[in-house]
Amino acid sequence: MSRVHVAIIGGGLVGASLALALQDSARQRGWRIALIEPFAPGSDYQPSYDARSTALSYGSRLIYERLGLWQGIAQRAEPIQQIHVSDRGRFGATRLQAIEEGVPALGYVVENAWIGHCLWQALDADVVEWRCPAEVSAMQRLDDGYRLTLSDGASLECDLAILADGGRSALREQLGIGVNVKPYGQSALIANVSPLEAHRGQAFERFTDDGPMALLPLSDNRCALVWTRASADAERLLAISAASFLGELQQAFGYRLGALQQVGARHLYPLSLVEAQEQVRPHLVVLGNAAHSLHPIAGQGYNLSLRDTLALAEVLIGSEGPLGDFATLQHYQQRQQLDQQLTVGFSDQVTRLFSNAQPLLSAGRNLGLLGLDLLPPAKRWFARQAMGLGTRSL
Ligand SMILES: Cc1cc2nc3c(=O)[nH]c(=O)nc-3n(C[C@H](O)[C@H](O)[C@H](O)COP(=O)(O)OP(=O)(O)OC[C@H]3O[C@@H](n4cnc5c(N)ncnc54)[C@H](O)[C@@H]3O)c2cc1C
Repeated sequence: MSRVHVAIIGGGLVGASLALALQDSARQRGWRIALIEPFAPGSDYQPSYDARSTALSYGSRLIYERLGLWQGIAQRAEPIQQIHVSDRGRFGATRLQAIEEGVPALGYVVENAWIGHCLWQALDADVVEWRCPAEVSAMQRLDDGYRLTLSDGASLECDLAILADGGRSALREQLGIGVNVKPYGQSALIANVSPLEAHRGQAFERFTDDGPMALLPLSDNRCALVWTRASADAERLLAISAASFLGELQQAFGYRLGALQQVGARHLYPLSLVEAQEQVRPHLVVLGNAAHSLHPIAGQGYNLSLRDTLALAEVLIGSEGPLGDFATLQHYQQRQQLDQQLTVGFSDQVTRLFSNAQPLLSAGRNLGLLGLDLLPPAKRWFARQAMGLGTRSL
C-alpha cells in the first residue's frame, strides 16, 4: 500500500494547476503528490481547428505569472483588447477597452489543450507522480486521511484528498455531498469559426431573444464561439449542415467581422448552475467544477477555480498544522467564500437577465447597456468582474 501526502483526483486544468501551485513547497517539505487522471495529458500538443478554448481573465494571467507558467501559455494566447457587448435588434451596446482599464489586455483566449500541455511540461515528476491512465473508483475515510481504490485494483492512501473530478463528480455523490442544481434549460454550442475580416482582438458578447452568444478572438484569426440556445434548438443546430449553421449564425451575429466562412467541429454542453453543499471536510477539499459549475457565457468558471486553487495552495503552504487539518481547510473556504458568492451571482444574474425575451427585461437590459456605456463606474465594475479582478486585487 503506497501513501502520499496529497492525492489530487482529476488531472484536468484545475487539478494540474493545484499540483503546480504546490510543487515548489512540496519539494522543500518532502511532500509527495499524486495526480490521478484517466486520460493521458496533453504532452503531444497539436494545434487544431477544432480545439476548445478558455477565456482567461487578466487575473488568471497574474496567477500563472506567479506560478511561472505565463511565458509558455502566452505563446498561444490571443489577447482580448476590447469586449463589445450588444443586444440584437436594440440600440444598447457597450465597449470595454483594455486601454481604459490600464491593462495590456482584458483577458486572453487560449486552447485548453495548450494550457494542459504547458502544465504537463511544468510538473516535476520527482514531486508530482502522474497516475495515468487511472481512475479513482472508491474513497474510504480513515482517521488520518483517505484510502483511494483505483480502477486497476491498486490502493493509495493520502493525508489530504482533493476532489477535482469535474462537474459530474461521481465521487462527490458517493461521499454523500449534496448539490444545489439550477438547470437553465439551455445548452451551450461550442465551435471555432473563421471570419473574413481580422478580429483585431475583439471579443463579442451578444444577447438575442434566443439566448446569449460569445465570439472570442483566437490565434490564427479563428474565433471561439459559445452559443447558448434552448436545449432542443441547440440539438438542431448541432445536426444541420455546416453551411446552414453558418447562415443562422451570421443572421444572429451580424456582419461585424464580415462573412463567417468556416466552422469546425460542434460540441454541445447542457447548462445548469451546480454548487456542492460542502467544499471541505477533514482531509478533503472539493475543487473546480466539482465545487461549482457555472454558465459559460460570462467566462468565469475556470477563472474562479484558479483563484480558489491559488488560495488553497497558499493556505496549505502557510499552515503549520498537519495536511488535512480541518481548521486549515475551513480557513481556505472562508477566504474564498465572498469571491465564490459574487462570481456565481454575477454569472447567474448576467445569464438570467440576458437570456430572457420578456419585453420588460429586454427593455431593462437595453437601458442597462446604454447606461453602462454612459456611466463609467458601472462599466468599470462590469469590466473588473469580467477580468476576474472583482473582489480581490492581485
Ligand atoms: C462550453 C464551456 C465553455 C467554457 N468557457 C470558459 C471560459 O471561457 N472561461 C472560464 O473561466 N471558464 C470556462 N468554462 C468553465 C471551465 O471549462 C471549467 O471551469 C473547467 O473545465 C473546470 O475544470 P476542472 O478541472 O474542475 O474539471 P474538468 O475539466 O471536468 O476536469 C476533471 C478531470 O477529472 C477527471 N476525472 C473524472 N472522474 C475521475 C475519477 N473518478 N478519477 C480520476 N479522475 C477523474 C476527468 O478525466 C477530467 O480530466 C467553460 C465551460 C464550458 C462547459
